[in-house]
Amino acid sequence: MYSSNTLLVIENLSISFQSSFKRLEAVRNLDFEINASTITCLVGESGCGKSLTCKAILRLTPGNALLSGSIFFNNIDLLTLSGKDLCKIRGAEIGMIFQEPMTSLNPVLPIGKQCTEPLIAHLGLNQEVAKAKVIELFSRVGIPAPEKRYNDYPHQLSGGMRQRVMIAMALSCQPQLLLADEPTTALDATIQGQILRLIVDESRQNNSSVLLISHDLGIVADVADYVGVMYAGTLVEYATCQELFMHPLHPYSQGLINSAPSISSMNFERLPTINGTVPSIFGMPQGCPFHPRCPNTMEICQTKLPVKVNINCSHSVACWLYIDQMD
Ligand code: SF4
Repeated sequence: MYSSNTLLVIENLSISFQSSFKRLEAVRNLDFEINASTITCLVGESGCGKSLTCKAILRLTPGNALLSGSIFFNNIDLLTLSGKDLCKIRGAEIGMIFQEPMTSLNPVLPIGKQCTEPLIAHLGLNQEVAKAKVIELFSRVGIPAPEKRYNDYPHQLSGGMRQRVMIAMALSCQPQLLLADEPTTALDATIQGQILRLIVDESRQNNSSVLLISHDLGIVADVADYVGVMYAGTLVEYATCQELFMHPLHPYSQGLINSAPSISSMNFERLPTINGTVPSIFGMPQGCPFHPRCPNTMEICQTKLPVKVNINCSHSVACWLYIDQMD
């Protein structure tokens, strides 16, 4: 059905929550694929469903979330897999780096011991061999004096060091896919670049694919092969990184890119902004969710959700402006 290079396929994924009076849709009809050895970034404003989508891949969404659609990983639908079989994939074939390492690491266990767990559980290594491997991993991700640090607790490390521990843990079993949910959000600007470079270099070295969630367009332009733009729970555009930044088609993507500052620009005028605010999940507008803010709104936009239009084999957009280009 898919090329042999396809690692992950998300088909028609919707995530909703049942409130006491109505069903609230946080992610709607999401479709995209991730190929082997590529870096795909999901961008969009806070609350657009990026992190929820990332967590849905490992079924780590809140207990009251209702998921529909399919998430195929190596042709296995993760949404229908038994809990036991999913545990064999979590941490082994799909690793995850969470947003905030302080709340993701166990505060009462030494970092070294936490990192040996996936190696013992998934690869069957004994404690001694796993310890040697973790020390080697700590050294690779730039933790100084790794033997001494092995017995440290998370509170004894800085934010950057804790995130390096998370990266070492996520990479320990050499997963085919690494999910990185805004991995630098909680860090100082000075070490954000180092951590991202580490994630990219390690994944390239292991031939892993990465799904990186970020709202920082500078980072995305620097590392991504493919970019998906999300707005109000929908994927509004998907393209190669170069195509998206050179020829953004969706008015929201255009607005995001135009509002990003550039250090090479000699234009000292105020940066353009996108009018209005992101709609609340409790009051999603009918039709295209972007229509109250869109400078190109048409009548159809106010009543009908736009369908996805494939512009070419690696560029799609969900906007009524391009409907005549539908194949
Ligand atoms: Fe704007 Fe209409 Fe396109 Fe939505 S569908 S982005 S409102 S032009």
